[in-house]
Amino acid sequence: MTVVTRFAPSPTGFLHLGHAHSALAGWRRAREAGGRFLLRIEDIDQGRCRPEFEAAILEDLAWLGLDWDGPVRRQSEHWGDYRAALAVLEGQGLIYPCFCTRREIQAEIAAMQSAPHGPADTPDGVPLYPGTCRRLSPQQRADRLAEGRSYALRLDMAGAIRRTGPLTWTDELAGEQAARPERLGDVVLARKDAPTSYHLAVTVDDEIQDVTVVTRGRDLFEATHVHRLLQALLGYRVPVWRHHALLTDAAGKRLAKRSDAASIRAYRAQGRSAAEVRALAGFPD
Ligand code: GLU
Repeated sequence: MTVVTRFAPSPTGFLHLGHAHSALAGWRRAREAGGRFLLRIEDIDQGRCRPEFEAAILEDLAWLGLDWDGPVRRQSEHWGDYRAALAVLEGQGLIYPCFCTRREIQAEIAAMQSAPHGPADTPDGVPLYPGTCRRLSPQQRADRLAEGRSYALRLDMAGAIRRTGPLTWTDELAGEQAARPERLGDVVLARKDAPTSYHLAVTVDDEIQDVTVVTRGRDLFEATHVHRLLQALLGYRVPVWRHHALLTDAAGKRLAKRSDAASIRAYRAQGRSAAEVRALAGFPD
């Protein structure tokens, strides 16, 4: 089977060394296996994504010496694919509209803090969605829809797990994993401002693009439990994953897009060569 990997940046800023590491990890994995390396632009957050950042990403990747196969897939051009997947899940009775604002969710969680068990957290320390809108009666739901209130769509996690039963998935570096999607709770599958969410779009795209090895950073390890569940619900093929370690700065702090992490642009402006920047990104020639 041909190995197919991908790099899937969001055009919300310039690429930095951490992105270069991720892109090189996916590119190397594909090229060493004689496989295909794809580029996908994850631009569902239309408020934060900018065409000029996308152009800069393509240019920086080419400057680094990376090439990709086939056309670039831009998520904002494929809303229909995500709607079709949502329709399948809706048919399974596994999604519900959530009208909560961020503030309402915070208030509910704060109220739970005084309760004996308190709110549960995801592995990243974010409180789980308390399930408020899952418990609405059909009438309450209809009233809110009739009022024209905006809503997201959430997955009924417990119902989804009942449907699929236990699942496993494999990471090339960390080995076989028992899927534990319940730790992320009733995740959002369609945002209020877009007919998809990160979890849904990435799962649909990896299937449509025939990705066989999902290469990405360790920070998305927990999300994979949810993606594995969505694949089972949607009848998709199951790739393997390769979550690479995250690059850190000299102080051991993770490089993040919005910190002062050195952008590839900045290194270019300093006159560094592509080989030097590849080495800084953890891939010496
Ligand atoms: N778009 C995500 C990011 O910029 C990566 C998603 C993925 O590789 O699954 O971090």
